[in-house]
Amino acid sequence: MAIKQDPKVKSFETRLFINGKFVDSSDGGKFDLVSPTTNEKFAEVSEATEDDANAAVAAAKAAFPAWSALSPSARGVYFKKLAALILESHNDLAELEALSMGRPVSGYFESYAAADSLNHYAESGYQALGTSSLNTPGFVNMTMRQPYGVVGAIIPWNVPVLFCINKTAPALIAGNTVVLKSSEKAPLTSAKIATLVEKAGFPPGVFNIISGHGHISGNVLSHHMDIRVISFTGSGRTGRLIQQAAAKSNLKNVILELGGKSPAIIFPDANLEKAVQETKHSIQWNSGQVCMANSRIYVHESIAPKFIELFQKGFADIKSGDPLLPETNHGPQADAIQYKQIQSYIEEGKKTGKMVLGSEPPQHQSGFFVQPTVFLDTPEDAKVMKEEIFGPVVNINTFKDEDEVVAKANDTEFGLYAAVYTKDLSRALRMAKKLESGNVGVNCTSPTGAPDMPFGGYKASGVGREGWTVSLDNYLEVKTVIIRVDEE
Ligand code: NAD
Repeated sequence: MAIKQDPKVKSFETRLFINGKFVDSSDGGKFDLVSPTTNEKFAEVSEATEDDANAAVAAAKAAFPAWSALSPSARGVYFKKLAALILESHNDLAELEALSMGRPVSGYFESYAAADSLNHYAESGYQALGTSSLNTPGFVNMTMRQPYGVVGAIIPWNVPVLFCINKTAPALIAGNTVVLKSSEKAPLTSAKIATLVEKAGFPPGVFNIISGHGHISGNVLSHHMDIRVISFTGSGRTGRLIQQAAAKSNLKNVILELGGKSPAIIFPDANLEKAVQETKHSIQWNSGQVCMANSRIYVHESIAPKFIELFQKGFADIKSGDPLLPETNHGPQADAIQYKQIQSYIEEGKKTGKMVLGSEPPQHQSGFFVQPTVFLDTPEDAKVMKEEIFGPVVNINTFKDEDEVVAKANDTEFGLYAAVYTKDLSRALRMAKKLESGNVGVNCTSPTGAPDMPFGGYKASGVGREGWTVSLDNYLEVKTVIIRVDEE
């Protein structure tokens, strides 16, 4: 495996972006970034202190009156500039993600998706409409929809640019100001976006971006009395802490996009090659570090041997290696913590199921590489069937009939994405209705999605929905105005 790690982006921003200025953290503190490919330190990034997080919120609060007073189209002008700058920075963003969290530059698409979102939201501000009613005699009543004020956004490391834009753009176009905290594992693309926010000319304080660990600056944001909405994507553990912090402070609204243990169900009439190709991609893409990856596959027993044979062969085209090389399509796991956690799940999986693909980590390798791993015939109550592994590890089990597989698929606390492969339309729709999941793919699986469809989880996979048609609502309060109209 060739490990090169020689990016074209030699220098990059690592400071905090508060009130339109790049600043070091108030106590000069920094945290290390270690390459997941070489296990060597390559950068130091500013660690936002409690004071820094408070300063970012204060800047956002001060910027709110003027920003919210602008027309949606005046706000949208900045969005269009930012979208163009993000597209121009495609290569830099791809390389920065490869450096910090090991995502292969091949197939990097987030810059396009982020620019699409910005261009969409640039035009969407006028959808913030109220209603009116003549239904109460003697009154003309109406609702107004208004921004909350300061919105907090806390994002994970696996697809950072998308989360950064998909949370902040609807909040900003609705007239809120924002403080975004990036993940300590992948802060470089958010810091890069901050340089583009500055270039796009957003007024100071409107869009603040800070880096650092969750228990320090993230904790300040989730407890902050001046933050009225917080949008979070990450683990269930942190989601629960954020909800508790909201309850203990000002009962801010909380939107949570959390983890998954997504099932994919393959019926005998499915297009087998397509089902194999797509379920394999789902669990391998981004080295399995995807909330909605199909980590449990249920195949009808009549086609299981063929499916498993093709699935194993499919993994043969994986090119594991330096994520900066164009031919690599399987990078390392994001960091040592993720790597160790996945290895321990693999050890656990060996005790409960039959491992038919996967290997011991090569001793000579310093990076955090995990071979795609397949377990068969694992008991439904085994740890690896119940808990989110967040790596390229999949359990393939069999089923006999529809009721049995629905019960197995739903026997989880998660409910983010379920997939069904069948040519029988009635069966597909029956399954779509029965599966306890925020998203159901029919003859497709994750990460297939649609930007104008709500995305979010049932059960412990989340609270609320995000997406082009619903996100604006997350960031607008509703005010009822009751107007008495005097008789002549
Ligand atoms: P994480 O919960 O460890 O961290 C997410 C963010 O929360 C980071 O920015 C972190 O610094 C911050 N944080 C940590 N502790 C905090 C605290 N006490 N207060 C405030 N903020 C805190 O999650 P992760 O490891 O970055 O991401 C992986 C998880 O995210 C997986 O569970 C995955 O399924 C989930 N995820 C969900 C979706 C979705 O859309 N549903 C998408 C991607 C990832």
